[in-house]
Amino acid sequence: MPEFFSGSLRCDLCPRRCDISEGKSGRCGVRQNRGGEPFLPRYGFITAMAMDPIEKKPLYHFRPGSSILSIGFSGCNLHCPFCQNWRISQNSEAPGRVMNTDEIINTVLGSGNLQIAYTYSEPLIHIEFLLDCMKKAREAGIANVLVTNGCINTEAAEKILALTDAANIDLKCFSEKTYAEILGGNLQTVLDFIRLAHKTKVHVEVTTLVVPGLNDSEAELDGCADFIAGLGPPEIPWHLTAYHPDYRWKAPPTDPAALMDAAHRARQKLKYVYTGNIGLTRF
Ligand code: SF4
Ligand code: SF4
Repeated sequence: MPEFFSGSLRCDLCPRRCDISEGKSGRCGVRQNRGGEPFLPRYGFITAMAMDPIEKKPLYHFRPGSSILSIGFSGCNLHCPFCQNWRISQNSEAPGRVMNTDEIINTVLGSGNLQIAYTYSEPLIHIEFLLDCMKKAREAGIANVLVTNGCINTEAAEKILALTDAANIDLKCFSEKTYAEILGGNLQTVLDFIRLAHKTKVHVEVTTLVVPGLNDSEAELDGCADFIAGLGPPEIPWHLTAYHPDYRWKAPPTDPAALMDAAHRARQKLKYVYTGNIGLTRF
C-alpha cells in the first residue's frame, strides 16, 4: 500500500482518517479509491499561480521585501464556514491545469526569486506532489514555503517539514470543540504541527483569523498567545487578521478597534504581533 494509506482503503494523512469506498473520495475530495488502490486525480493540478509579496502569505520575518511565486491547488480537509478561498478549497473540481514539477521549478528559476509558496487552498492534502516538488526545489536552491492549516498527522508532518524552509500556519482557535464541530479539524494535531515545525527549525509564523463570536474571546486568544509564547526562542510572530463575511458565515466583519485591543493584549506575552486585513495598517 502506498505511503499515507492503509487497510482497504484508509487515508492516514490527516486526523479524519477517511475510510474511502470504491469510486469515492475522502472528505477533502481529492484523495480517492479506484479499484481498491489510492487514486490522486489532482496530482500536480494547479488552480492558481501568482507572484506575491512575501508579506502577503503573511510572512514578515522571512526574506522581507521579496516576492514569491505562489501556487494553489484544490480541496481542503477542513470546511471552515468563513473560508475566504472557498471557491477552490471547497471545490475539488476547481478549474486549472496540470503542471509537472520541472515546469514549476523552471518558472520559479525564471522569476528571479528563489522561493516558492504552496498556498491559497490546503496544500498538504496533495502531499505526494508536494514532496516531489519540494525535493526538486531544494536541489535547485529554492526555498519551500508552506501556508497551511497544519492539520496532518505526525508521520506526514515530519516528512514535509524536513523539506520546508518557512511556514505560515493557521491556529484558528483554541477550542477542540470548535475545531471538531465547526471546522472539521483537530486542535491537538495543529498544536503538534506548529511545535514540530518550530523544533525542526522551520521559520514559523502563526495566523489567526479573528471571527467575532467564534474565537474572539479573551480566554481563547490568550490560549493561543500562551501556546505560541511557550514554544520559546526564536520568538514566533503572530498575525491577527480581520475576518470579512464570506462563504457561509454572514456575521459582521471584525471590528478594527477590537482587533487592535486583542493585539495590544497579546503583546504582553509576545514580541511580534501584527494585525492584518484592515487595509495596510500595522499596530
Ligand atoms: S487527507 Fe483527505 S482523504 Fe485523507 S484523511 Fe484527510 S480528509 Fe480524509
Ligand atoms: S483550512 Fe483554510 S482553506 Fe481550508 S476551509 Fe479552512 S480557511 Fe479554507
